[in-house]
Amino acid sequence: KNRTATSNESIVALDRAHVFHSWSAQGSLKPLVITGGSGSRAWDDEGRTYLDFSSQLINLNIGHQHPAVIAAIAEQAATLATVAPSTANLARGQAAERIVARAPEGFNRIFFTNGGADANENAIRMARLHTGRDTVLSTYRSYHGNTGAAIVATGDWRRMPNQYARGHVHFWGPYLYRSEFWATSPEQESERALRHLERTIQGEGAQTIAAVLLETVPGTAGILPPPPGYLAGVRELCDRYGIVLILDEVMAGFGRTGRWLALDGYDVVPDLITFAKGVNSGYVPVGGVIISDPIAADFDEQVFPGGLTYSGHPLAMGSIIGALDAMEREGIVDNAARIGADVLGPGLCALADKHPIIGEVRGEGVFWALELVSDRETREPVSAAVMGQVKSELVSRNLLTITQDNRIHVVPPCVVTDSEVAEALAIYDEVLELF
Ligand code: PLP
Repeated sequence: KNRTATSNESIVALDRAHVFHSWSAQGSLKPLVITGGSGSRAWDDEGRTYLDFSSQLINLNIGHQHPAVIAAIAEQAATLATVAPSTANLARGQAAERIVARAPEGFNRIFFTNGGADANENAIRMARLHTGRDTVLSTYRSYHGNTGAAIVATGDWRRMPNQYARGHVHFWGPYLYRSEFWATSPEQESERALRHLERTIQGEGAQTIAAVLLETVPGTAGILPPPPGYLAGVRELCDRYGIVLILDEVMAGFGRTGRWLALDGYDVVPDLITFAKGVNSGYVPVGGVIISDPIAADFDEQVFPGGLTYSGHPLAMGSIIGALDAMEREGIVDNAARIGADVLGPGLCALADKHPIIGEVRGEGVFWALELVSDRETREPVSAAVMGQVKSELVSRNLLTITQDNRIHVVPPCVVTDSEVAEALAIYDEVLELF
């Protein structure tokens, strides 16, 4: 009988009675109620509508309730709702074909997973088998998912209580605004970060290192587009030392940067690419690994020792086909690029001109961060208390945004319109005026 309850109060009460939430102490949670949505808006059943500049968990690239994705899922559900991964299924082949079409030359195979973490998990496994080596290098400023190797590859605080997988070493990636290398220009940051990576490789013993795992554009860690030459330099180091380069495109891929893959903006071709979120905007859980031909060939004769009951699940496959076709047909990735370059980027820079609390604006497409500081000179991050207030002031004005450390991540769906951006900018403006 509880399922007929629609008041926010009863939905929250039921949640608090039985649902255990991610990354939280459970005692004092008051989750927001969302019962519906369309495009960049989401709402509850009590008349409150939010402008969604969070894309939920930065996965909703195509926006809420896109009719083509819903229809593709429904059509697949009516045809065949589930089937074993060992079978050949047309939707699975077509979804894989569409993903391969967006990958660089020389990538022809997809291993489907349930989400982004297990995509990284399996990419790491492939890299270890390909090289016969153990160690995975990844950055302190990263998030790669919440499973065995993926959470230990992660750099941020979430790794620390979860360090049970072995064979992981971390290094510092480029981040000019808070440089670990005393750099004062992007070129210097790139060069010094590469030297630091090479010294880490040498210090660990190059012959022990299976993979360098990097987010093409680190997302959760601050939306950090790499400086010129960095990714090409990492590729060069990987080639020199026989290391597999894995680019994690889980957050940055499939439209968020205004490109189909974030790596399209850089002079780099990795060996493995992981994806999830934007590929179907999370309408059904899915992720996967895009595998380059030489690594795929390893498993022509050798057994690949990995699998999942729901690998290539038909409903997920239907949703990928529906989402990628609609994104192409409706120019949704181009919209993200245009919004970033012409509307959202300039709008955020104008806010920075006005509000000294904004220390830096960075990003592209629909993937932006506002770095909030108490002092522009020292770049001292604002306190957690200030960030808590910022978040609650934004939500109280019906704007959903992601706040992370001392940053606001401005990450609307790729379908966001000019007028929705104007609406959100006015809200950020009003809220930042309070601090
Ligand atoms: N990799 C990156 C870059 C991510 O941002 C995330 C999730 O935020 C993941 C991996 C993990 O994906 P999932 O939560 O689907 O397991």
